[in-house]
Amino acid sequence: MHEIDLNLVEMTLDVMKFAISRITDTNPPLGKPRTEKELKSLVGETVTPKGIGGEVAFKLFRDVLLKASVPIDHPRHLAFVPASPTRAAIMFDLVTSASSVHGAFWLEGAGCIFAENEAMRWLVSLTGLPEGAFGVFTSGGTEANLSAMVTAREAWRARAPEHARTRGIILTSSGAHSSVKAMAKVIDADVLTVDTEDRLEAAMVREHISRMPKDERERLFAVVATAGTTNAGIIDDLSGIGTLCKEEGFWFHVDAAYGGGALAAPSVRHLFKGIEMADSVTIDPHKWLFSPYDCGAVIYREPELARQAHTQGGSYLDIFYDEGYRGFNPADYQIQLTRRVRGLPLWFSLAMHGTDRYTKAIERGIELARIAGRLIERSPLVELVRAPSLSCVLFRRVGWKPEEYTRWTLKNHSDGFALVAPTKWRQKGNVETVARFCFINPDTTERDIEDILLTMHS
Ligand SMILES: *Cc1c(COP(=O)(O)O)cnc(C)c1O
Repeated sequence: MHEIDLNLVEMTLDVMKFAISRITDTNPPLGKPRTEKELKSLVGETVTPKGIGGEVAFKLFRDVLLKASVPIDHPRHLAFVPASPTRAAIMFDLVTSASSVHGAFWLEGAGCIFAENEAMRWLVSLTGLPEGAFGVFTSGGTEANLSAMVTAREAWRARAPEHARTRGIILTSSGAHSSVKAMAKVIDADVLTVDTEDRLEAAMVREHISRMPKDERERLFAVVATAGTTNAGIIDDLSGIGTLCKEEGFWFHVDAAYGGGALAAPSVRHLFKGIEMADSVTIDPHKWLFSPYDCGAVIYREPELARQAHTQGGSYLDIFYDEGYRGFNPADYQIQLTRRVRGLPLWFSLAMHGTDRYTKAIERGIELARIAGRLIERSPLVELVRAPSLSCVLFRRVGWKPEEYTRWTLKNHSDGFALVAPTKWRQKGNVETVARFCFINPDTTERDIEDILLTMHS
């Protein structure tokens, strides 16, 4: 299994040929799911005592399994938060795997971690956080949020030891990402939400806190603001909330998992004012910074607090902390120990293209949202639910009921044409099913948008 023979070399060439054709394909077929039963009948037994052979397995993957999966970088995949890794980053993802480097400790990963940190320095510079702020690449925004919350909670308890057994409270808005609630469960904290899917304002947070009973207020240790809500691209009042947190001594976490890429876009950078006050920030390079999955990031104002919260002890780990191996250990700043050096594809792509091209590609997503907004305003059949924000556009098809949106999604998907999905928009107790675009891929064209809007005519 670990021998190198002619077969393996040929196989590698075949696989590489496929990878190259996929990397250079700007319009891959839009795969769609099949049932597990269908897939089983098409594929048969694949894991057997003797193996089915690489050629057979690869054919099954290419011809059946991949076709039953959606390429996230399809130019008409505008649902959820799509992605569009640069070709350089995808290529370097292959190199990262082939290099077999352990990315937890400087002892083993120094050179690769150095490169990751170069990319991280650029990310940190986008936030405007002060000297000393730094971060680490995580598996995604969920893990980044979790790592930040653990750090916040540990810092709170270190400051007030009487809270060692107190269940903490995190305050956020109902527009925050589901992972905030999910990760609060992991750390056994309560989440209170200010009921708004629109921009969370400092005054609303203040009001909410003033109505909390005293014992609750004492348990409140962190406020999570969102910089680019996943549903609508809304950026909370970061400066107001940041100021409030500073006054009250709350940890201020900014979840910019989706929106963070737009920190590099001058046309909207002012909307993020106040992010530099954060104690921690989540940014997902695998969303709007064109990295392949999976690559999130968490940045801390004071990395030392994260180190105190996350460093794992253990007799066989001691050597990693020896003088001779001193350096930055990514394992010390988030919840994961063994990790791939997942920041490398981003680093390579940044190094190859320069940051200006990132700015341009991100601005294109924002421009596409504005174009979509204009096209929607021009058509009598559709109307904007709210002005486009970052690269998100919420709009309604006049007269449609929720089932009609669902049917529209399924039809476009099963035609292999586009993946666009409905969402819900909640305003003043009223919940409406609406259509949504989220633009990431700079290869999406105005024509793509027009064609998708046309599919709402019937
Ligand atoms: C996507 C997203 C997350 C979760 O990130 P994953 O990478 O999917 O784990 C968290 N917060 C926001 C605002 C997001 O958009």
